[in-house]
Amino acid sequence: MNDTACELSGGHPVDSASDLGTMYKIVEIFHSVQGEGVHAGIPHVFIRFGKCNLQCEWCDTDFETFGEMAAVDILGEVMKYPSKRIILTGGEPMLNDLWPLHRLFKSRGYQLSCESNGTIEIPDGLLDWICISPKDQMYPQVKIRQRSGDELKCVYVGQDLQLYDGLMDGFSHHFLQPCYIDTESVEWNGKNFAMTESVVKQTPPWRLSLQTHKWMGVD
Ligand code: SF4
Repeated sequence: MNDTACELSGGHPVDSASDLGTMYKIVEIFHSVQGEGVHAGIPHVFIRFGKCNLQCEWCDTDFETFGEMAAVDILGEVMKYPSKRIILTGGEPMLNDLWPLHRLFKSRGYQLSCESNGTIEIPDGLLDWICISPKDQMYPQVKIRQRSGDELKCVYVGQDLQLYDGLMDGFSHHFLQPCYIDTESVEWNGKNFAMTESVVKQTPPWRLSLQTHKWMGVD
């Protein structure tokens, strides 16, 4: 175990060398305020993983630019911030074996959330909060394997909402999010907002989710 690992594992006899040495593809780790969904406004540390198994048209994440990082270094980076809440995002975080990170962070009292496209089943007990954002409005052939969780968050592009009938009961919160692309005009984004707002008003129990972090100009 190196010096950093010794320092971080002080008082945590459950840490294993294998967990600390597990390598992950990491785009970035940053501290910010969650901008959308139930936890909007709450500061979190975001761990953005590289790679994704989909290629959505509106994707604004460069998930192909990443570095290899050991779990011990991820731990060290996250522990620089005061927040005890982590969001695992991507790319698609569930392409990774997240149990080593689970063990390292849960033993230190962190709350683990994820934002996933739902195409990979999430093992029971791995996470405290599951947000699934299916992309089947664009990829009807892609099967959603994670069919339960805390938040179902769908980007609305005019699709038939019956698409989600089989998923609604598995989730506690249901969000429709206007498609927002920052390179598009204010009018283009405004039209999407108006369309989504109108559908939410007509179609309970959907709620409007806004990407307020984009409006605030933060990550
Ligand atoms: S699933 Fe998410 S990360 Fe992957 S391409 Fe689509 S929007 Fe981007």
